[in-house]
Amino acid sequence: MSQVAEAPSSGSSDSDAPADASTYDGLALRQLEKDFGAFRAVRSLDLDVPRGSFFALLGPSGCGKTTTLRMVAGLESPTSGTITLAGQDITYAKPYQRPVNTVFQSYALFPHLDIYENVAFGLRRRKKGDVDAQVREMLDLVELGSQVRKKPVQLSGGQQQRVALARALINRPEVLLLDEPLGALDLKLRRSMQIELKRIQDEVGLTFIHVTHDQEEAMTMADTVAVMNAGLIEQMGAPAELYENPRSTFVANFLGQSNLIDGTIKSRAADVVTVDMHGIDVSVRADRTHTQGDKGWIGIRPEKVLIGEEGESLDAPGNTVPGGVVTDVSFVGVSTQYLVRMPWGQELQVFSQNTGRHRLFEEGERVELSWRPEYAFLLDASQDASAGAQKIDSDG
Ligand code: ATP
Repeated sequence: MSQVAEAPSSGSSDSDAPADASTYDGLALRQLEKDFGAFRAVRSLDLDVPRGSFFALLGPSGCGKTTTLRMVAGLESPTSGTITLAGQDITYAKPYQRPVNTVFQSYALFPHLDIYENVAFGLRRRKKGDVDAQVREMLDLVELGSQVRKKPVQLSGGQQQRVALARALINRPEVLLLDEPLGALDLKLRRSMQIELKRIQDEVGLTFIHVTHDQEEAMTMADTVAVMNAGLIEQMGAPAELYENPRSTFVANFLGQSNLIDGTIKSRAADVVTVDMHGIDVSVRADRTHTQGDKGWIGIRPEKVLIGEEGESLDAPGNTVPGGVVTDVSFVGVSTQYLVRMPWGQELQVFSQNTGRHRLFEEGERVELSWRPEYAFLLDASQDASAGAQKIDSDG
């Protein structure tokens, strides 16, 4: 899939066409490619990252996101294509000539220097004046103003990562690259650092490009997420837009979970497509239909599916599917997760909020499923229905 034709440009314009790189004030990648021997790690990448945005490159291990980041940083030379930043071609500029800084998962702090000197390092090297005011401003920004004389080893992982961030931000780069920066932190700390990073980006207003394989992390922080797969961008957009209206099975499965059911298209009207789903007519909005063929995968997120007793009139007029049998029930506190075997043999996932309004169903019970047509999407039948599934877990 071509990322230019299929994915909207993340640039400030509403059009799908990429911006003119020579006048664009953000970061523009044009037909960027990287080969390692005979292996193409990044394939004709076209990407606009608007100035001041928080942009995430999200994808499974090996999809090419770090290679892309390293090309932007100047640590890897592209095989072909161009990189421009604020209209300037930096494709072959040396790393230190680029207004770009990188924060890695390993904090790479100087162990013999205290926090203050770690942050001051870049300014001192460039013989900048007014070091003290700037260092204190940065340390306050990352909320470490009271720890200035500690050595890195005396700080927690999260605090060390904040020092690394302050050390990069003090150089006021045009673009800050974050390569799995929270990967070494435990889950709870990661979640609080995500909120912290977002706040810091809001405050400094610089462009952040964040590389991660963690979909929740990308969706929590970024304004725009580009989902990468096998060296290509599958889709990009705002997190909610990607989640609600995925254009490929890979995105549908990689961002959250999806039920994908095969169907045959019966009719296409201006705003709605009617699909025969194993003998039942279901509707999908035309703007959520991403296939031109006669067949397609009907997609519905598990939390959008309502479960009820057979014949119960559920609050989801439109797509109602009788004849299910509950095959598994997992009570997980906020919700109950069901597997329901449908008459055509497929098991569908249903996540039901535990609001207390409905009783829980038991294994073996006959049920009816239902969802509002506006929540469904329709994908190309030629795509693998399991693409992107479970890759997050195997990704370390
Ligand atoms: P991860 O999250 O695991 O870092 P990634 O999406 O960042 O994955 P890259 O590190 O960009 O992936 O690697 C993309 C592909 O290019 C992988 O298949 C990797 O093995 C290959 N690759 C990366 N660097 C080199 C290299 N120096 N030589 C040969 N192959 C490489």
